[in-house]
Amino acid sequence: MNSESGMTSPGTSAVHKPPVYIISAPSGSGKSTLVAKLLQLVPNLDFSISYTTRLPRGTEENGKEYFFISRDEFQRMIDADEFLEHAVLYGIDFYGTARTVLREAERKGRDVLLDIDVQGAKQIKQKLPEAVSIFILPPDRKTLEWRLRHRGEDNDQVIQRRLVTARREIENYDKYNYILINDDLQESVESLEAIVRAERLSRSGRPLTDEEKGTVALADRCRLANIRDRVRRILDSFSPPEGSGA
Ligand code: ADP
Ligand code: 5GP
Repeated sequence: MNSESGMTSPGTSAVHKPPVYIISAPSGSGKSTLVAKLLQLVPNLDFSISYTTRLPRGTEENGKEYFFISRDEFQRMIDADEFLEHAVLYGIDFYGTARTVLREAERKGRDVLLDIDVQGAKQIKQKLPEAVSIFILPPDRKTLEWRLRHRGEDNDQVIQRRLVTARREIENYDKYNYILINDDLQESVESLEAIVRAERLSRSGRPLTDEEKGTVALADRCRLANIRDRVRRILDSFSPPEGSGA
C-alpha cells in the first residue's frame, strides 16, 4: 500500500479507484495559477485534459490544455455516451470530461484533478460522491476585477460578464467540500497542497505523525463548515448595488 495516496502498489490485487479532485472557481480567481503549482508539488496526480469546442487562445496547444474539437465531434461523443460530464458555458462553448480519463488513471494507479465549472462539478458529485471538491474564491469582488484587468486578456465587456457570472457561481459554494480563499498566493498554494495530502492521509487509515496532523489541520481550515462566514462576506461584496436592477 502506498501510505500517502491510499493506492495499492503494482502487483497487489485490489484495483486502484482513482481519487478524484474537482477544482472550480470564478474566472480570474487564480485557479490556473494554483493548479499549475499544485501539480509541481504533489506527485501521482494527473490533470484531466478536457474536450472543448472553443478555439485555442494564445499559446494553447491541442492535447495540452484541452482537446479542441468541432461541435459535430462533440455531439458525436455525447451521443456515444463518452463523457463523464459535460456542460455549455457562456451560452456557446461546450466543455466535457471524457470517461477515458478515469479508466486511464485507474490503469496507471494515479489520482485525477478535474478543472471544471460548477455544472460539471455537480454532475461528477452525483456519479462519484466520494470525489473531493474544492472551490477557489477571490478575497472580494474588487480584487477579482483587479486581477481580471491586470491579466490583460479580456476587454471591459467580457470582464463585466465574468463578474456577473462570478456571483452566480459563488452561490454554489456550499456544494463543495473545501473553500480556498486565494488572497496571499503562497499561503493558498500551501493550503491547496495540504488539502490533497490530508485527503490522501485520511485514506491511508494509519496513525499520523505530528507533521501530518499539522497538514490535516491546515486543510481543515478550508472545510466549508469552518469558513462559511467569510464566504458569505465575499458573496455580499458581489451583491449588485441597490436599485441597479442587476
Ligand atoms: P483563473 O485561472 O482562475 O482564471 P488565473 O490563474 O489566470 O485565474 O489568475 C488571474 C490573475 O490573477 C493572473 O494574472 C494571476 O497571475 C493573478 N493571481 C493569481 N493568484 C493571485 C494572488 N493570490 N494574488 C495576486 N494575484 C494573483
Ligand atoms: P476556459 O475557456 O477559460 O479555459 O474555461 C472556462 C471554464 O470551463 C472554466 O471554469 C473551466 O473550469 C471550465 N471547464 C474546463 N473544462 C471543463 C470540462 O471538461 N467540463 C466542465 N463542465 N467545465 C470545464
